[in-house]
Amino acid sequence: MNYYSLNHKSEKTSFRDAVIRGLAPDKGLYFPESVHPLEPDFIKDLENLPDAEIAFRAIEQFVGNEIPEKELREIVKDTLSFDFPLEKVEDDVYSLELFHGPTMAFKDVGARFMARCLGYFNRDRKQDSGKVTVLVATSGDTGGAVASGFLGVEGVDVIILYPSGKVSDIQERQLTTLGQNITALEVNGTFDDCQDMVKTAFLDETLKERNLTSANSINVARWLPQMFYFFFAFKQLKNKNKDVVFAVPSGNFGNICAGIMAGKLGLPVNHFVAATNINDTVPQYLKSGVYSPKPSRQTISNAMDVGNPSNFIRIQQLFDNDIETLKSRFSSYSFTDEATRNTMAALYRKSGYIADPHGAVGYLGLKEYLDKNPGKTGIFLETAHPVKFLDIVEETLGVNVGIPEQIQAVMGKEKVKQNISSYDELKAFLLDAR
Ligand SMILES: *Cc1c(COP(=O)(O)O)cnc(C)c1O
Repeated sequence: MNYYSLNHKSEKTSFRDAVIRGLAPDKGLYFPESVHPLEPDFIKDLENLPDAEIAFRAIEQFVGNEIPEKELREIVKDTLSFDFPLEKVEDDVYSLELFHGPTMAFKDVGARFMARCLGYFNRDRKQDSGKVTVLVATSGDTGGAVASGFLGVEGVDVIILYPSGKVSDIQERQLTTLGQNITALEVNGTFDDCQDMVKTAFLDETLKERNLTSANSINVARWLPQMFYFFFAFKQLKNKNKDVVFAVPSGNFGNICAGIMAGKLGLPVNHFVAATNINDTVPQYLKSGVYSPKPSRQTISNAMDVGNPSNFIRIQQLFDNDIETLKSRFSSYSFTDEATRNTMAALYRKSGYIADPHGAVGYLGLKEYLDKNPGKTGIFLETAHPVKFLDIVEETLGVNVGIPEQIQAVMGKEKVKQNISSYDELKAFLLDAR
C-alpha cells in the first residue's frame, strides 16, 4: 500500500517508509492512496470471528505485502493481549472500555502495533542504516503506552520528553521505571515546550542519521490499528438493528479518525460524535466554517488539551473535504470541567459506573447527540482507567478506586530520568547517545 502526503508536496511512499518517517518530508500527514471496503459477509459474520481475525482483515490492505501475512498475524495477535469489553451503562448507552491494557489507556493498542511493525522493519535494516530513535513528547498517557509498547524492541531506542511536575505520579512511574531501550527526559518547562523541542529535532538536519520518528497518532502505524476496537464494539452489540452512534473523547482526533476509517471499510456506523473539553477548535469550526487553532488550555481531561488537532485534516479527507458531507455524518461538542465533574457524579449515582474525566466527556457528547436524535444505540469510548486520574475521580465521586495490578507493578520502582531545560541539551543528548 502506498501513502501520500496531505500537503501534496512529497512523493508517495510505502507503508514501511511511512512508519519509519512518521511525517512526510513536506511535514504533511500520510494518508493511504486507496481504501477498499471489506466484504459485506465479513461484517455480517463479525460475531463469529475471533478478534485477531477481525483486526487482521481490517489492517491487511493498509500494510499490503510489506509484512508477510504470517508475521502480520503475529503482530496483530501480540497487540491484542487484553480485552475490550462493551459495558451497558443505560438503555441503549454502552461504554467501550479501552483501558484493560498494560498502561490502562487506549494508546496501548496503537503503540504496541507500531512497535512491532518497526521491530519487523528493523530486522533487515540494522546493519546498513543503524537504529531508529522514537522521539516523543507526552502530556501523560502517550509516554507510558509508548514506553511499554516498545520495551525491548530490538533496533529501536525510545526517548520520552515530559514536562516536570505536570504528569501524575503514576504516569511518571510508567515512563521512568522500565529501563532497557527506554529513556525518560524530564523537561524543565511545559508540554508545549516538550513538543516544540521534538519538532525542532525532527527538522534538524544534523540529527539525520539518528533516524528520528514519531510515535503519536501522526504515525500511520499508531493511527490505523485504532480501527480494531470499533469492530469489536459492534461485534459485542446484542441488538444490531438500531442505528449505531460512536462518541469519542477527542484531543488530537486520531482515535475518532480511525473509527471513521472503520466506517469506510463498511462498519455500519450511523454517526460519529467527537466530544472535546473547552479546547473547542473543531466544534467551533462546525459552527462557523472557520478553522482557527488556538493555544491549548488546561483541563481535568488533560490528554485532550489540544488546540490544533493534528488528525483533523485526515478526517476532512475522509469526508472528501466537504463540510456539508462532514456535518451529515459527524458532530462535535465541547464541555467544561464543571459539566464533566457533574456528569461523573451523576453517572456514578445513577448506574454505579465510574468514568474517568475523558470517558465522561465522551458520554456527555453522546447524550447531547442522542437527545436530539433519539432511537439510536450509542457507544462512548472510555479511553483511560479511572485510576490514571485518581485524585480527580476520588474527590469528585467520594470513593476509593482500587489500584489494579498493572499500576501496582510500577508503584514501588525507582524513577530513572535525566533533566534537560533547552533544545541544545536535547540535541547534545541525542548526539551523545549514539
Ligand atoms: C490521548 C487520549 C485521548 C485523545 O485521543 P486522540 O486520539 O488524541 O483524540 C483521550 N483520552 C485519553 C485518556 C487519552 O490518553
